[in-house]
Amino acid sequence: MQTLPISFEFFPPKTPEGRDKLLAVRDRLAALNPEYFSVTYGAGGSTRDNTQDIVTQIHRDGYEVAPHLSFGGDTREAVIALLQRYRDTGVRRVVALRGDMPSGAGIHKLVNANELVAMIREHFGDHFRISVAAYPEIHPDAENYSRDIYWLGEKFRAGADSAITQYFYNADAYFYFMDECARQGIDKPVIPGIMPITNFQNLVRFSDTCGADIPRWLRHKLAGFGEDTEGLRTFGEEVVAQLCERLREGGAPGFHFYTMNQADATLGILRHLGIV
Ligand code: FAD
Repeated sequence: MQTLPISFEFFPPKTPEGRDKLLAVRDRLAALNPEYFSVTYGAGGSTRDNTQDIVTQIHRDGYEVAPHLSFGGDTREAVIALLQRYRDTGVRRVVALRGDMPSGAGIHKLVNANELVAMIREHFGDHFRISVAAYPEIHPDAENYSRDIYWLGEKFRAGADSAITQYFYNADAYFYFMDECARQGIDKPVIPGIMPITNFQNLVRFSDTCGADIPRWLRHKLAGFGEDTEGLRTFGEEVVAQLCERLREGGAPGFHFYTMNQADATLGILRHLGIV
């Protein structure tokens, strides 16, 4: 398989042990020469300090890193101050998002990602490479299919450089989405987000929340493994590697792996693809 740019996503660890474990995972994945690592940002800024801490550490260790960022309930000034800290640390990338309403937090107005992108460009010029989110199976709040792609276009028109997709297991959804993007004049890279399959219950729960579809045949096949976690992992690796192969053959510009802070499942997929 021809090598494509890859990136790996982490969530910020909450404990010193989690941090040490994550840095060990990072070291294993770093051997594959990723373009960058990214670190998520909790809804409403709930992980602000943890995200900043691990982003700084990864940067200090000499790797490219992209903090995820959203307004949450923060003011414009607070978001700018956070971006200034990232800039002063030497960070050159961000993933700009709307985020979701955090449970238990007071109601506030969510700021759409196109406005965040515009604000970053206004205050920081070209300093940051900005990625945004894209949804081949359409965002749950979208008015309709083409309107969702229109808003993706607005994020690019505001200055985003590339997009990373929500995960999906149906390659045709991505290909059709890319055709529709082209019809709406979008010509920037839209990188498939790849979710390894390691735990059926978690995957179902998460997919239901974020609007990612697990095709019926796959759902049944995965359910059939029951307690056989090893069997599920092996099958999951094969199935996700086949998806990646189809995406590569169809012209996907790279892969962004949702690692869930684990190296083995992602490495297993990359091994199937001949990258490890
Ligand atoms: P937007 O692009 O703002 O779109 C949200 C919805 O509003 C869409 O339905 C769109 O059609 C519509 N819309 C867009 N712009 C406008 C506008 N100007 N006016 C009216 N409607 C509009 N969540 C986290 O909390 N932390 C993370 O770190 C995180 N990382 C992510 C990384 C990736 C790669 C992806 C795909 C998702 C991530 N998410 C994260 C989830 C994301 O925050 C949610 O999916 C959220 O609901 C939407 O964010 P967005 O940036 O896509 O929003």
